[in-house]
Amino acid sequence: MSGIFKSPAFENAVVQFDRACESLGLEDWLKERLRYPQRTLVVNCPVRMDNGKIKVFSGYRVQHNLTLGPCKGGIRYHPDVDMGEVASLAMGMSWKCGLAELPFGGAKGGVSVDPRELSLNELERLTRRYTVEILPIIGPNKDIPAPDMGTNPQTMAWMMDTYSMTEGYTTPAVVTGKPTLIGGSLGREEATGYGVAYTIEDALRHFGKTLPGSKVAIQGFGNVGTHTAIKLAEMGCSIVAVSDVYGGIYNPSGLPVDKLLDIMKQKGKIQEFKNADKITNEEILKTQCDILLPAAIGRVITKENASQLRCKMVVEGANGPTTAEADDILEERGIPVVPDILANAGGVIVSYFEWVQGLQEYYWSTDMVFAELQKRMHGMFEKVSNYANEKRVSLRIAALMLGINRVAQAKKLRGLYP
Ligand code: NAD
Repeated sequence: MSGIFKSPAFENAVVQFDRACESLGLEDWLKERLRYPQRTLVVNCPVRMDNGKIKVFSGYRVQHNLTLGPCKGGIRYHPDVDMGEVASLAMGMSWKCGLAELPFGGAKGGVSVDPRELSLNELERLTRRYTVEILPIIGPNKDIPAPDMGTNPQTMAWMMDTYSMTEGYTTPAVVTGKPTLIGGSLGREEATGYGVAYTIEDALRHFGKTLPGSKVAIQGFGNVGTHTAIKLAEMGCSIVAVSDVYGGIYNPSGLPVDKLLDIMKQKGKIQEFKNADKITNEEILKTQCDILLPAAIGRVITKENASQLRCKMVVEGANGPTTAEADDILEERGIPVVPDILANAGGVIVSYFEWVQGLQEYYWSTDMVFAELQKRMHGMFEKVSNYANEKRVSLRIAALMLGINRVAQAKKLRGLYP
């Protein structure tokens, strides 16, 4: 059974799952069921490229669990996407939705492609074909995709349009993270990053520290990285290092976030900003700072570099950036890790708001979205930190235990079919 998911990402997700299950006392069948996805779909998408040739791209949609409601999870466009990675991310979504008490199960999708190598027209054709291929298993009451790494509101607009055209009527609630003009929620674009910033504030307070003046290093300057940087700078933090896929920059006196955003808009590469030292994506992880925020790909903090980190806290903006072995090293070193399913849950929380708005055709103000997001993020941090103290476990194990247990108890209540 596990063979098709074999990958370092999935193995890591299973190790974390097993660790969290140690003191949950779940029955064996429940653990066995939840260790693997409920349903997986592999698709191959032929796409006509601008030069007239046809290229075939492999894609996936994995639904880990549908117990608490329709599935929810992003679509990733990245060359490293494979079944194991997508399955691990889908599993993480189940625990995240459980922890956030949302009426969703976890899913994830992706296409193995480097989106930088495709023109806009090629990306549109790929997205529409991929949507058609996964059409049988998605829908507002079945499975609701959202953006993830390499995809964005435009991708969601194409997915929503493709689905709506085949249904024969506009169906905004089939995806979240759409542009607001076609039913997206105000605040969805900022939601994950702002949620990360609210969680950093709570985590610092929890460990007896304060936010203003804290130094932050951010790996990945896309949706999550930029919006976290904007919010943290507004709250008085100093952003000392940032990076994107091409490399990073470092200035111990702090970087001007507004100018970094301008550079990204104009040149698309953070290293085009001149008033800073150039660093690599490995070096940024070892920057001297209060908070290290991995906000790009998975498994970047490993047993090889965990002993060299010089931060006081890791906050996971990305999904799965820390391996289980690195977790052990960081725990031994007294460096707390605020886990992904807690820190970056703001995205799926506002996606939930967007889905509700789409179903009701009643749209919220930005103030309403952020007030409700902030309330839920603070509530989640309090719940996880209290549980971690009570059970004497790390924040990661506490968050996973809460998320897994909610799904497991719901499964028990519903019982087996047939
Ligand atoms: P994005 O595509 O908007 O940005 C990704 C950033 O990472 C870009 O700056 C890119 O240049 C950089 N990057 C890509 N490959 C890299 C590499 N090998 N090394 C260093 N940097 C690299 O993606 P995003 O939506 O910001 O997602 C980032 C992470 O956050 C992912 O792990 C994603 O699963 C997670 N996440 C995103 C959301 C969301 O709402 N977008 C929600 C929860 C979690």
